[in-house]
Amino acid sequence: MKNFNQKIILAILVVGQSVFAQAQEVGLPERFRMMDRDGDGRISRAEWKGPVERFEQWDANKDGFLEPKEFPPALRQQSKEEPSVTKQVSPVKSAGMSNLIEGGSVKGPHRRAIGFPGGISKEDLRAAGMDVSGVATVFPDGSKCFGIDHVFGEQWQGPADTLHSGADIPAPLDTPIIAMANGVVIFKSDGMVGGRKSRGTQIVLQHSPADTGLPFWLYTLYSHFNKVPVWEPGQHVKMGEVLGPNGRSGVPGNRREPHLHLTMLISDSASFGMINETVVPEFGRFIDPPAIFRDKPPIDTAELKKLPADQRKVHVAVMYEDGGLSAPSSKVIWPFRCGKR
Ligand SMILES: [Zn+2]
Repeated sequence: MKNFNQKIILAILVVGQSVFAQAQEVGLPERFRMMDRDGDGRISRAEWKGPVERFEQWDANKDGFLEPKEFPPALRQQSKEEPSVTKQVSPVKSAGMSNLIEGGSVKGPHRRAIGFPGGISKEDLRAAGMDVSGVATVFPDGSKCFGIDHVFGEQWQGPADTLHSGADIPAPLDTPIIAMANGVVIFKSDGMVGGRKSRGTQIVLQHSPADTGLPFWLYTLYSHFNKVPVWEPGQHVKMGEVLGPNGRSGVPGNRREPHLHLTMLISDSASFGMINETVVPEFGRFIDPPAIFRDKPPIDTAELKKLPADQRKVHVAVMYEDGGLSAPSSKVIWPFRCGKR
């Protein structure tokens, strides 16, 4: 573990050094870019993954950020003489089935919570990010959109005593559900898991940082389609393309109207595995779906919970019925098209 940490730190140093040399240039090595989640060219305490004491020690000007020049020169020197370390910086990848790895080799503290092998405590689910964040959606002026009724992380309203893994958006039967961003279909299910009808018909998309403009890998899971979508794993989808019709497949009992159940996961790794017929991103964690529309960090549930309510409002980007966008530069949109008032 110690060795692993050192390697990671060295990798950061290698990258940090080149950042120092080429400050602000595009094409910054991926490792630093992923750690520097808000892309401001420095590592905040929240972004730092190494030991806290080291952060404090290196933060020479005590501003709460590690700038490249604050990395110890001796270590920068050492990192230069360690060519194998540069291999830790993964090449820029695109989304797709080439990122599928063996389920057993998926790394990360939350893989059990994400894979739903059963018996996961609420505490473990919360540790994986599944908790009520308090984020509230604001739709564009003059728009008429389908909003969330059951939020992410609340007590699930179904038969089991667990937490709600996504946000529910009720809409009329067969309303088209659309892709929230460019991406690749990595999983499709007719709702049968282990020979048992469960979960409902669903599709999972993987979105690369280039697809969304966000500094992490994003997974969007859409569930309860009225008909099994025609999409197949490996196919590319464009933002706004129709994935399938809204429905209520896999919804227990009769107590719920048709709705989209939307689950979102993020990760710094491109790799994902399949465990128990569920997509499990390596180092993955859950986020509250509307949090994806925040224009600045944090996005993680635990950090969002600490913000005052007025900072937890998010302005959602939408596609209108005519295909127009509420914000033309949007790379992520609401999963239902909106009408205009
Ligand atoms: Zn749901």
